[in-house]
Amino acid sequence: MTTSNHLYAGATIALTVQSPLVALPAALLSHFLLDALPHYGYPGRGGYAEAFNYRATYFMESVNLVGVPLLLYLLWGKPWWVWAAAFLALAPDLVWVYRYVAYERKGWLPIGSLFTRFHNKIQWGEYTWGILIEVPVFVLLAMMLTEMV
Ligand SMILES: [Zn+2]
Repeated sequence: MTTSNHLYAGATIALTVQSPLVALPAALLSHFLLDALPHYGYPGRGGYAEAFNYRATYFMESVNLVGVPLLLYLLWGKPWWVWAAAFLALAPDLVWVYRYVAYERKGWLPIGSLFTRFHNKIQWGEYTWGILIEVPVFVLLAMMLTEMV
């Protein structure tokens, strides 16, 4: 799933449960639940160099360019743990930053850890048509969050 969907899910969970003890682990868990849904991906999964061969990638990144600043605005003044929940809901994808820098740019071997293999495997449903799921999920989460703040 895209960055915005993970961030919005974490923030929405936090504002719904109103408890950091419940919100933080639930936000982390939400990452894997969202990744297990069919979502946008491109054939070949060849990394960022390949991703931008598809127009839909630009559209999905546009969602982030609007969604992330909007989230910062919506969460302004909220408790630290709401921000932490949003971050935790996205955090597992930081491993893809490592993959991009170390593997795609420098040619080092990927991590290949049990976590990375699990994280990769649950994303069974990456399709270009997944944009038809990702965008409505974003709109729904953005509407829910907007109502809560
Ligand atoms: Zn992920």
